[in-house]
Amino acid sequence: MAWQKVSNEVRLEAKDPFELRVNLGVDVSESTVTSALRTGDMGFLHSFTTGSTVDGPGVRIVAWTAGCQFRCLYCHNPDTWNMMNGLPVTLERATEALRKYRHGLRLMFGGFTLSGGEPLMQDRFAVRLFAAAKSMGIHTALDTNGFLGERLSDEELDQIDVVLLDIKTWDPERHLKLTGKDVGPTLDFARRLAQHKRPMWLRYVLVPGLTDDEGDINQIAMFAARLGNVTRVDVLPFHQMGRYKWKKLGINYALDDVPAAPPWLVERVCGQFRSVGLIAH
Ligand code: SF4
Repeated sequence: MAWQKVSNEVRLEAKDPFELRVNLGVDVSESTVTSALRTGDMGFLHSFTTGSTVDGPGVRIVAWTAGCQFRCLYCHNPDTWNMMNGLPVTLERATEALRKYRHGLRLMFGGFTLSGGEPLMQDRFAVRLFAAAKSMGIHTALDTNGFLGERLSDEELDQIDVVLLDIKTWDPERHLKLTGKDVGPTLDFARRLAQHKRPMWLRYVLVPGLTDDEGDINQIAMFAARLGNVTRVDVLPFHQMGRYKWKKLGINYALDDVPAAPPWLVERVCGQFRSVGLIAH
């Protein structure tokens, strides 16, 4: 099959998540894609990276999935929007890739993070890969925009040791303009994680002039503090490292003139989260 040929030729490990990868899954037939999404036998991955220290506790291996239903104006990896840009990878191959690292990950108090793109676009693959990781004693983290959180059953949530939940902004209209989708499902997922006492890291991408509104951030901070399960907040300063991908993909990029978030602004926003008792970096 064509996808097997492709999957044998392309390395799973990328140099870094900013490596542009396109059309790696275009030869996969529609019926194979449908079956993969239903069973989770195969996933579409942008890449694996190793040695991450920012995508969950300790040192981690990260699998970046392809496919996302958001269209964030500040997205660093628009090549992950389309699932067919991803490399078709069988569950066995992904599990074997994890197995190689299991002892090292444990020694470095790390684990496995599934990020994207949006991993829950391929929820069956995600669930089965997490189950495989847990069976090897590997700590698991899901980095998600939360929009499809309802696809996970309570038992499946239990396979995930920590959820890294991106809340893009608070105001519904601003969220719609920023991402193309409603904020409601993300907040519902956060509430559900809290009800089930699942540890959560809140991730907030800080873009000067776009997501730096003080009142908006205060709302998110108060919401997060009330949840009671947020163990850490990561304020992620916007940068322009993904700009070249928008250009190469021929997508109109609205943030051409936006500067990187300066340290004083990052500190102000971290301070807002700290002022409600949260740990923020
Ligand atoms: S949710 Fe993440 S991958 Fe999807 S568009 Fe937004 S920043 Fe990009």
